[in-house]
Amino acid sequence: ASLFASVEMAPRDPILGLNEQFNADTNPNKVNLGVGVYTDDQGKLPLLKCVAAAEKQMSETLKPRGYLPIDGIAAYDKAVQGLVFGAEHPAVKGGRIATAQAIGGTGGLKLGADFLKRLQPNATVLISDPSWENHRALFESAGFPVDTYPYYDAANRGINFDGMLAKLKASPAGTIVVLHACCHNPTGYDLTDAQWDEVINVVKAQGLVAFLDMAYQGFGNGIAEDGAVVLKFLEAGLSFFVSTSFSKSFSLYGERVGALSIVSETAEECARVLSQLKRVIRTNYSNPPTHGAQVVATVLSTPELRAMWEDELAGMRDRIKLMRTALVNELTAAGVQGDLSYITRQKGMFSYSGLNAAQMQRLRSEFGIYGVDSGRICVAALNTGNLKAVAAAIKAVM
Ligand code: PMP
Repeated sequence: ASLFASVEMAPRDPILGLNEQFNADTNPNKVNLGVGVYTDDQGKLPLLKCVAAAEKQMSETLKPRGYLPIDGIAAYDKAVQGLVFGAEHPAVKGGRIATAQAIGGTGGLKLGADFLKRLQPNATVLISDPSWENHRALFESAGFPVDTYPYYDAANRGINFDGMLAKLKASPAGTIVVLHACCHNPTGYDLTDAQWDEVINVVKAQGLVAFLDMAYQGFGNGIAEDGAVVLKFLEAGLSFFVSTSFSKSFSLYGERVGALSIVSETAEECARVLSQLKRVIRTNYSNPPTHGAQVVATVLSTPELRAMWEDELAGMRDRIKLMRTALVNELTAAGVQGDLSYITRQKGMFSYSGLNAAQMQRLRSEFGIYGVDSGRICVAALNTGNLKAVAAAIKAVM
């Protein structure tokens, strides 16, 4: 028999599979609200001006491409720490945080997962119900059993916070809890400040290991506002993990720019942690690529480019909010009854629309409007050109 005779066909990735279906659809009015990508009002993926400016600057002083250090560009890691924790924070200044460049946010999560598997091989990982599609697979492939904590409350269009807290309280010490720092994917519902405080108290009391996934910093309420939760964990004196992605906030999806930061109790502990994290990297891909991280480091550390980025990020954030309000208005105009304020209460790129799988399938087959069967739609792909048609189609399948 052939070497691969027993290899079974893997199921298609539910979201990337949707993309393939979308590309094959000949409907001229098709709209892709499936994949999590921000497009502008013309439906185009933006190339941020700050990125183009940094690349122009870089192209004027072209550098040879030697290997980077295992943990990436030092100036990049420093810039990430400044953004996520604040350059002046005592934990940063005191050398208590190890940050390594990673291959996107996914890479940051995977590095953390592999590191944790060596540290706490028998732990269980808890992810929100529901969560980003890849969380479960990623932690399972690192060797962990993955369970969920309650999160989405369909009946109340919000968060089942009591359920979430009860699950955390019932979890043994060492349990790894993956938390969406902001702009929860897929629901769009984020914890309030007071709820975060309660979660932190339970994490501390139970000895849980928090892993904050920060894939959308700046897409919710602002860079500092979205990052406030990280500071809360610092203030609580916890040791924890943060993965960072610049895919959305810099519109650098294909460059695969991210990071993993691990907060420890002392600088001495941090040095040991970093040394082990480097081993994880070394045995995975040796060292990261140069270009995307250099772009981000240049933008974050050059005041004019930094200001430009903050402006452009605010532009993306504001346009998403505008589309949320516009969607509510169009749905109302199309005759949809009831309280639609949940759409503007949600944060970030996504909205759990409350539509079921059959309705989502009808949106695709009858109207060429592609969302995820869970009812998730990407609000960041709505624009003035497609909004009316999307609202009318949603009304039609309800
Ligand atoms: N975490 C969450 C919650 C995400 O939504 C995403 C991207 N869709 C990621 C991580 C991964 O980001 P990246 O594309 O940078 O790997």
